[in-house]
Amino acid sequence: MKIIQSVAQMVLTMQDFRSKNKSIGFVPTMGALHEGHLALVRKSISENDITVVSIFVNPLQFNNPDDFLKYPKMPEKDRLMLENEGCDVLFTPVKDEIFPPEYKKSFQLGYWDTVMEGAFRPGHFQGVARVVYRLFEIIQPQRAYFGLKDYQQFMIISRVVAPYFQDLKILGLETVREKSGLALSSRNLRLTPKQYSQASQVPELLKKAADMLGKKTLQEIKEWFKAELSKYSELRPEYLEFAHADTLQPFVEGDTPSKYRVFVSFYAGEVRLIDNMAVQ
Ligand code: AMP
Repeated sequence: MKIIQSVAQMVLTMQDFRSKNKSIGFVPTMGALHEGHLALVRKSISENDITVVSIFVNPLQFNNPDDFLKYPKMPEKDRLMLENEGCDVLFTPVKDEIFPPEYKKSFQLGYWDTVMEGAFRPGHFQGVARVVYRLFEIIQPQRAYFGLKDYQQFMIISRVVAPYFQDLKILGLETVREKSGLALSSRNLRLTPKQYSQASQVPELLKKAADMLGKKTLQEIKEWFKAELSKYSELRPEYLEFAHADTLQPFVEGDTPSKYRVFVSFYAGEVRLIDNMAVQ
């Protein structure tokens, strides 16, 4: 596996692969890799000649400075995991090269940025869009792989960022979960055992909430969910929303529930976690 830090070197390496007609698959990450990331890497390896993984903890997408500082970092373990999978290139750029002062690109994110994660994390998606655009520009992949765990991010990248790049296909992969149902997340490493076990109850509650859609009013479902979470001392709900899978518009009473997904954000201690799933 090649490990590249410099942007110039990365551009040259990618040019070389393209000149040999190699297809390039790309998986952007912030490191502290787990099976969720590896599922994306494996998919890319199965569909492309060359797989590039980036590890860059993007300061622009952290609206909470403490969350940025405490974001888990384990570069050596990440490198070994990627090498084991057969990843071809690991790109570990530095901030000054990803965001040089002359890099001014910004995006009109519109409605997508006003709901759920957009509403609760001001500037987050602008930061995500800017880094992903920059990485696409440098790597110019044919395919890029994202997790549906970050569903709103997946929508914004597919609909707003990817259209700038011809022949780029964005693929979304289902959330990888622990046996308990808890969605894998690098932030889970920051949970105490008690917080971890309480957070593991949330996916089941989320599924129950999804099953109630169309049978109870939104207000009843949200109150029920809040009451359930309040039984756990470490958990604090932020939002529970039902949004259309294609538009992220809120649920309209009377509409077909299966067009929607349920989205949650909550705190376990001081760690903020998100999850979402399709309404069956
Ligand atoms: P991150 O390192 O958190 O920025 O995530 C990098 C990529 O991995 C994003 O596309 C995430 O949506 C995806 N990802 C994170 N957790 C999971 C998971 N549990 N299952 C599938 N994909 C995931």
